[in-house]
Parts: sequence; C-alpha cells; structure tokens
Amino acid sequence: MKIICVGRNYADHAKELGNDLPTKPLLFMKPSTALLIDGKPFYHPDFSQDIHYECELVLKIKKNGKHINEQFASDYYDEIGLGIDFTARDLQEECKAARSPWEVAKAFDNSAVIGRFISISEVNLNNIQFDLYKNDERVQHGESKDLIFGFDVLISYISKFFTLQQGDYIFTGTPAGVGRVQIGDRLSGGIGDQQLLSCEVK
Ligand code: MG
Repeated sequence: MKIICVGRNYADHAKELGNDLPTKPLLFMKPSTALLIDGKPFYHPDFSQDIHYECELVLKIKKNGKHINEQFASDYYDEIGLGIDFTARDLQEECKAARSPWEVAKAFDNSAVIGRFISISEVNLNNIQFDLYKNDERVQHGESKDLIFGFDVLISYISKFFTLQQGDYIFTGTPAGVGRVQIGDRLSGGIGDQQLLSCEVK
C-alpha cells in the first residue's frame, strides 16, 4: 500500500502559502508507516514546532492499473473519505528554501490520518462539500468543484508514473484554512452531514 498526495490543488490554498498555481499535478508520497487509522490519537512529534492540519478528500484505489486513460479512471475507485495530511510547516519551509525533498516535513510517522470511507454512489463527485473542525470551530471548508485537477485527471496522471494498486490512497489536496495544531486539540471532519474523521492531538 502506498499513499500518493497532491499538493496545491486548490487555488485558495496555493495563494495562502504564496505559491503559484501548478500547470500539472504536484505529487509526493508517504510510506505505509505514515498511516494513522481507527481514530487513534496523533502524538505531536518534537521535531517540529509548527505541525499543520490539511484536510483532504481521499480516494481509495480498488484495482491495479497503469497508464489509465482518463475516461476509464472512474473504474479504479469506488470509495471516498477524508484524511489529514499532517505537515511540519517549519521543516517544509526549510526544505523549500534549500530546494531539498519534502519527506521529513510530509512523510513522517502518522502524518496521514484517514477516517471512514463511503461509497461514491452516496455523493455527487463534482459537488462534494467537506469541512474540518478544530475544537468545534470550523477551520476548513472545501468543495470538489474547486479542485484544479479533478479525480480522473489525477488517476490518469499518477498512473503514468506509478502503478496504482488495490488499497492505495490518493490524498487529493487541501483547500484554504490550514493551520497549526497543539497538544489537546481535537480535529473532526465530514462530507456533507456525514461525520467521517476524528483525531485527537496528544
Ligand atoms: Mg496536502
């Protein structure tokens, strides 16, 4: 299992971090050891003073594929959920400044939180609304219609480089509103009125 993540896939988020809009999907990966499931707590690592939440729609890949044509991409997923792409923003800024890879800032243990998945038959893929709350205050709101690169474009593009395998996850990018977490915070998120994700920071 692998976790493929997309960066800067919402214009409002690219803008809040001072980045230009991408002309092709910006990809990075997290290892299987990054996965945090079953509502387990996230233990704040001591190597960063600025861990940010990034709430994202996550696709679960249902069968293997490579060089997937965009028109057939929807055959490769049938469940969607929410995830948090935890990011050590201070380390990421250091990496960006040094033009170094991002792994220490993005791919560390437990940095990929996922919640419960639902069937895509329960949603309109082109008009999914999702929210993230921190301590009961809404901090992020996203809509799938605002994705710069939509689900099928991403599947097709990713599969040119990386064979997609059943059970892989694709984190599709975060909307604006990212921010710091502190020990004691509780994050929770949902699609529409369906609660799908909860994570306590310890
Ligand atoms: Mg992200």
